[in-house]
Amino acid sequence: MSIESLARQEILAMKPYSSARKEAPGEGVLLNANESPWSLIESTGAERGLNRYPDPQPCELVSALARLYGVEEDNVLVTRGSDEGIDLLTRVFCRAGQDAVLQCPPTFGMYQIAAQTQGAGIVSIPRSEETGFRLDQQAVLEAAARDDRIKLVFLTSPNNPTGDLVDEGFLTDLLDACRGRSLVVMDEAYSEFCRAPSSARMVSGHENLVVLRTLSKAWGAAGLRCGAVLAQPSVISLLGRVIAPYPLPSPVISLALRVLAPDMMKRQARLIGRIRENKESLLSALRGYPFISDVLPGEANFILIRTQKTAELIDYCANRNVILRAFPGNPPLRHWIRFSVGSEQENAALTAVLDEWERES
Ligand SMILES: *Cc1c(COP(=O)(O)O)cnc(C)c1O
Repeated sequence: MSIESLARQEILAMKPYSSARKEAPGEGVLLNANESPWSLIESTGAERGLNRYPDPQPCELVSALARLYGVEEDNVLVTRGSDEGIDLLTRVFCRAGQDAVLQCPPTFGMYQIAAQTQGAGIVSIPRSEETGFRLDQQAVLEAAARDDRIKLVFLTSPNNPTGDLVDEGFLTDLLDACRGRSLVVMDEAYSEFCRAPSSARMVSGHENLVVLRTLSKAWGAAGLRCGAVLAQPSVISLLGRVIAPYPLPSPVISLALRVLAPDMMKRQARLIGRIRENKESLLSALRGYPFISDVLPGEANFILIRTQKTAELIDYCANRNVILRAFPGNPPLRHWIRFSVGSEQENAALTAVLDEWERES
């Protein structure tokens, strides 16, 4: 069964919008896009002036991302962050009122938002606090094999906020169970922080595997809004039917190319090393606080801790200018707080506030 047969029929039937820049990729006397011949300001570094529409999928950036993630260029769709990838997948594969996505909460909140926006159902296979929020592999496999509504299975590795990884043997079994039924989406927003290999290399062998990557976390470029969907060309081309005609602003394209320039690789590796070291120091500091009853270090650039008086502690920190994340609307995480591993100074500010809280409580 082809991937096309899993997509919404309307998406297959429609004739995708063809932008001016797609039809004539931008050389010569450009009178085809109703652009201004002038721009009011210089846009430094951009290939073309601000008056011109950008490339819908800029070759240089696509090729830099393909190299970075170890896939072919036709396996890449550049998006406005992974958030857009999640949204496109849900719009292309889920019929409102009929299809569903599978998620394993606590996890990233956008899978649910995308499903709700599209009017798709949500099948949740919860991770329970008693098991340390472990993924219930058996239940996921069973639901994916049995429930015909499920079109997308969202997995997150490392998971946000629990930090655990998806086991590769399980992923292989799941891809088999889902073949001809659904797509498995591996959201690897934090992959660079962990030592396990990315599942991007499995894309060539599995038509129903989609991997999401982003420059927002380990590449220190959340402000760019630049992410990538990695999948076989059949999937990329389906998503290309609904993506905005010009998703990436030209200043973003040129900044993304600077972030990914060859001389940045070493710098990025050093920064990741520093995050690892800072995480170790933070973890050893956390062991000393009696009010922290559990620590989930995870494999990413954040830590999840269990405390009583969660809301009070969050406010206490906020009043002292240290902003942490609680999950008040999410009962299983009622007693948990997540925080990112920061710079040396940021972490010192955090532990100073925690020291103060300990003295006062
Ligand atoms: C932060 C995060 C993202 C968002 O990525 P953007 O590329 O910034 O949209 C995606 N998935 C998970 C699990 C995240 O935690």
